[in-house]
Amino acid sequence: MNFSRSPGLRRLNLMLEKMGFISKDQKEQILNAVDIVQLIGGYVQLKPSGKNFLGLCPFHQEKTPSFTVSPAYQNYKCYGCGEYGDAIRFIMEIENFQFKEALQYLADKSGIEIKGLSQRKPESDTQSGINQCLRRAFDFYRGNLTKASAGSAIWKYIEGRQISKPVIETFQLGYVGPGWTQLHDLLKAGKFDTPIQETAGLVKKGEKGGYYDRMRDRLIFPIRDVQGRVLGFAGRDLGIKGPKYLNPPETDLYKKSGILYGVFEARDEIRKNRSAIVVEGYLDAIRLHEQSWSEAVATCGTALTNDHIRALKRLGADSVFLLFDGDKAGIAAAEKSAELFLENDVDSRVVILPEGLDPDDYFKKYGQDDFKTLLDQARYDYEFIIDRTKGRTDGTGIEFQKKAVNDMIQIANRIQDQIKKELFLSKVASDFRIDRSNLNQIAKFGKSRPVRSSTVQNSPNITISFEKRELPEVKLLQYLITHPQSITLTRENVKIDDFSRKDLSRLYTRFLELSDDEYVSLKPQEFPEFFVEFNTLITYLLQYQIEYKGPSVSRKRDSGSASDTEMVSLQQEYENQLSSFSEQSLMFLIRRLKKRRKTSEIEKLYHAPRDQARSTVIQLSNKRKRNISI
Ligand SMILES: [Zn+2]
Repeated sequence: MNFSRSPGLRRLNLMLEKMGFISKDQKEQILNAVDIVQLIGGYVQLKPSGKNFLGLCPFHQEKTPSFTVSPAYQNYKCYGCGEYGDAIRFIMEIENFQFKEALQYLADKSGIEIKGLSQRKPESDTQSGINQCLRRAFDFYRGNLTKASAGSAIWKYIEGRQISKPVIETFQLGYVGPGWTQLHDLLKAGKFDTPIQETAGLVKKGEKGGYYDRMRDRLIFPIRDVQGRVLGFAGRDLGIKGPKYLNPPETDLYKKSGILYGVFEARDEIRKNRSAIVVEGYLDAIRLHEQSWSEAVATCGTALTNDHIRALKRLGADSVFLLFDGDKAGIAAAEKSAELFLENDVDSRVVILPEGLDPDDYFKKYGQDDFKTLLDQARYDYEFIIDRTKGRTDGTGIEFQKKAVNDMIQIANRIQDQIKKELFLSKVASDFRIDRSNLNQIAKFGKSRPVRSSTVQNSPNITISFEKRELPEVKLLQYLITHPQSITLTRENVKIDDFSRKDLSRLYTRFLELSDDEYVSLKPQEFPEFFVEFNTLITYLLQYQIEYKGPSVSRKRDSGSASDTEMVSLQQEYENQLSSFSEQSLMFLIRRLKKRRKTSEIEKLYHAPRDQARSTVIQLSNKRKRNISI
């Protein structure tokens, strides 16, 4: 059915358009205006193949092309991963846009005005003012550089830094002279209000109330988003007056934590290779582009963040090289960044440049082949982190090593991907020569730092010795820690003297001092620190490595000895009950504890004087009748 032919539907359509919905007509209008081959060709290298075009799929990694674009049907399909769709779908996928964003993008590209869209997401006056202001500043900076004479300070600087003309063009570098209000005056003359100039991050208020240009006597680096829109400017000082590099201030447009310098210039290469190189400085990124690594981007004067990683992922980077200066600060930054990548599901490899060089200096001394070798030899983030940590602890005492292992475990606990976490822990275990299962247990339940009496190194098998009759109380406490929501029901049913072990009853007493709400808000891994006086015991309980060691020598009358097989099956029975929280499991544990408690009381009585025994047995059997409901 054609919507526009039926008057009723046509009215409905218009109404929906007015309300900001996209009508089928508008969608068709946009799709008709877009040439899908040209559009996709901007992202993927396409070659004619019969009636269609063929290229490497931007949505999955492949070596032989299976990504087909059909001009006749104006759609695409990948025979490798199954992705298919029209131009809108393609833009949504590749730019990580919502439906409407993709429509707007395509409409802008083909010069179509869409009522519904522009009504729904109008660019505010301020917003468009800022954009125009930035654009004006961009033209001003660019013009200054192209107009500057060959022997001028800026060109001398550029020659000294050996920045080639093609990359100046690619990165659209600019220049501003030493004056205080050149840009400000220009923008005022162009009817841009001072507040707009300030919001755009271009001018600053002086102490006497006047405004002056933020950038003076600097080489200018325009920072653009992935679509090439100018977000702000950074500047390299030509003299020695101010800070060497001036980064743009945070504005509505420019949020430094998520912005990568060079992302517009690098995006095609990143998409093509599904890989990126992240460097620290503006000139580092430029230098790499010049040396034909055009997938290089830079964090703009900040440490790498999760937002940066997300931006790289959106561009389709599956693997990232982190390139850092070989000095102390560079290596420290490399470690932090590698950790961040490890926590996210993007592979990263760390490249530390030799001799404390930065990328810019590196290429003055070494060639492209050397750099390629460096990339090939780069260690994966997890290897790098463990090697660095191991290197620091070599030849140190056990306490220091213990701390290092704890740090590694905390990193492991932040790794989202389970397989990655496993691989990481395997390497930690083998490098630090620790029993793998212990490491797993610690990692599962949090820090091991509170373990004071036994370090991971000198006691690789952290175990707690207890007797069979104590199993119920140990298991109940474990359950209380691993499932804090158990507290209410336990409080109602279990008394402090239901525990026979002094340490366990003291711990339980401590638990009961908290309100239910307070207790439930605790996470299992927080227990050792929250109840710091019990941290050793709690850590033992958390590790689940409770092992039956037979009757202890110190106890004369042990009633709980059991054969190994009996113990194993008992343990198993508990494990089955304990894996997740349910009232039923909790009541199972409470009943076990109560039953064990009574049995041991009765057993005790056999050794008590006869008269006392008889009266207590009667009391006990009455009590048991009362408790039968449990
Ligand atoms: Zn594919």
